[in-house]
Amino acid sequence: MNKKIKWAIPITVLSLTCGVTAGMLAGCGNDDPGAEHTHSYTQWGHDDDGHWKYCPDDNAIDEASREDHIFVAGECECGATKTPVAEKKYGTVTGQVKLHKMGGYDTDYAGLTVDMDDDSVEITVNSSSGAFTVENAEVGKNYTLTVAKSGYQSYSATVLVSEENETVNLGESVLEYEVFDLLEGWDGEYHDFSYVNETEPYIRFKEYTGNPKTLNVLTKDSYKDIKATFKIKYNNSSYNEHTQGILLKFLHSTNPPNPHLS
Ligand SMILES: [Zn+2]
Ligand SMILES: [Zn+2]
Repeated sequence: MNKKIKWAIPITVLSLTCGVTAGMLAGCGNDDPGAEHTHSYTQWGHDDDGHWKYCPDDNAIDEASREDHIFVAGECECGATKTPVAEKKYGTVTGQVKLHKMGGYDTDYAGLTVDMDDDSVEITVNSSSGAFTVENAEVGKNYTLTVAKSGYQSYSATVLVSEENETVNLGESVLEYEVFDLLEGWDGEYHDFSYVNETEPYIRFKEYTGNPKTLNVLTKDSYKDIKATFKIKYNNSSYNEHTQGILLKFLHSTNPPNPHLS
């Protein structure tokens, strides 16, 4: 009876120690601790780049087995599958550029450019008619089409081809001729030039908001005759002084300035 109790104590202590440290745990196994483990690389491991074989007993990798996937019908023997690349579909975009200049339309399309900000589309611009065609426009992709010609305000539009082989006709893209230039260094305020091609063209001056400014407007072209109408709002002046004026300066004039105001 006494002998049994005597041996029970060391066994209890030993099992507690094995539960606490990993180093001791190895010695707790039933295998013969002296036997050498031989890896058996029977399992496949893989990631996006390739695959390898490993030993399931201790997860040791056979480095010599690393290689790229070999996909057959979208699947590799390691179990990796190829992510299918969506097949791209294409359509066509067409349009007609109009050059709006001084109440009419200019037909000189030389230097006209059409851009979709994508090198993979094929853009053809007819410099005689102003018509353009964009081939290989990807279905479902939002393009920004920009039409430009020197001397005109460029035109931009969003373009979307929604079905394969669809032809999206944008209709007319009108570029407005830039009649005027602002003389640099005089007035950085915003001015609306969008009415200069209308039947009764005018420039809108932004409402006075700060220090007095002088607006110098130059026409880009030269004209033999010009007619201009100037209007000053009586109530626009500060402190109700109602004092405002217009100073007219004519450049490139062969005669002394003698403007007739209407
Ligand atoms: Zn192993
Ligand atoms: Zn593989």
